[in-house]
Amino acid sequence: MEKIKITKSETSKSKPTTDQLEFGRVFTDHMFIMDYSTEKGWHDPRIIPYQPLTLDPASIIFHYGQTVFEGLKAYLTPDEKVKLFRPEKNMKRLNRSNDRLCIPAIDETLALEAITTLVGLDKDWVPSAEGTSLYIRPFVIATEPYLGVAPSQNYQFIIILSPVGAYYKEGINPVKIAVENKFVRAVSGGTGEAKTAGNYASSLKAQELVADKGYAQVLWLDGVEKKYVEEVGSMNVFFKIDGEVITPALNGSILEGVTRSSVIDLLKHWNYPVSERRISMEEVFEAAKNGKLEEAFGSGTAAVISPIGELSWHGKNIEVNGGRTGKVAKQLYTTLTGIQTGKQADPFNWTINIE
Ligand SMILES: *Cc1c(COP(=O)(O)O)cnc(C)c1O
Repeated sequence: MEKIKITKSETSKSKPTTDQLEFGRVFTDHMFIMDYSTEKGWHDPRIIPYQPLTLDPASIIFHYGQTVFEGLKAYLTPDEKVKLFRPEKNMKRLNRSNDRLCIPAIDETLALEAITTLVGLDKDWVPSAEGTSLYIRPFVIATEPYLGVAPSQNYQFIIILSPVGAYYKEGINPVKIAVENKFVRAVSGGTGEAKTAGNYASSLKAQELVADKGYAQVLWLDGVEKKYVEEVGSMNVFFKIDGEVITPALNGSILEGVTRSSVIDLLKHWNYPVSERRISMEEVFEAAKNGKLEEAFGSGTAAVISPIGELSWHGKNIEVNGGRTGKVAKQLYTTLTGIQTGKQADPFNWTINIE
């Protein structure tokens, strides 16, 4: 494994105060970068001062979107240690996304070392207030200047870090969701299970249209029949119906969230009946009508757990749990954030301490 070369920044930028923290607007002093060429493979892993990139305008990334990304967080524990939550799962997923986009695989051990070294160097940037964290964004871009539609011969793997504020500033609150009946996020055989830019670019229109009507996010249905639930915004989704906790089974168009896997493991550990299966909007609506829709919530790194208080579907409104956060959602949120920040025991060994 090639050694990571470090060039430290001579100055340090000023850090945002707790109330200035947003999501993804401010970046730390350093970044990681590594190059790929067909002759040399992945080479020259290095940490350098955070800076703009210089790219040829013909770079494949700008035209055909050959790119993938990841998202995870570093958390400060009460005794000022820095923890990562299941980062090896993000590195595995990065390579699954790479494979789907014809991007050469990255050594997962090196990628993880890049993250821990970079976060270690910028660890003063991990904010300490309740609910805050340091967001880690690894990504790969195709840099070959070529207008032909073909896999690039050159890439860069880059990692940047951003201190982020608490997702729930006024406590965890259920949101209103519109079920999307026109646009789809992904289709069977498409790129839905890869974290690649095109999926997000294509989701903007639907999101913009429902935001105008006061909804926080859209609920995505399957791209063929538009009957079965897939995801909510850029989160995985769970329903609790008559005691059973259900999440859509991975079908090739759903992104396999690290939070989703952790929620499933915790629910099994607590002896809740959990199913990964197909679930239609019809089933959700019928359950709500019969008073059996007990909870609904999204899961993802940014919010951890995001309860759904109301669903709008073909002009019908479905209220969930009287618009209040459910017991299971609350228990999952408290436990996951407790484990991530080292405030609770970590029975599954999900976290790693960096230095
Ligand atoms: C990243 C992402 C998720 C959540 O994944 P986590 O690993 O839990 O953060 C879910 N759906 C989509 C579409 C995503 O991009």
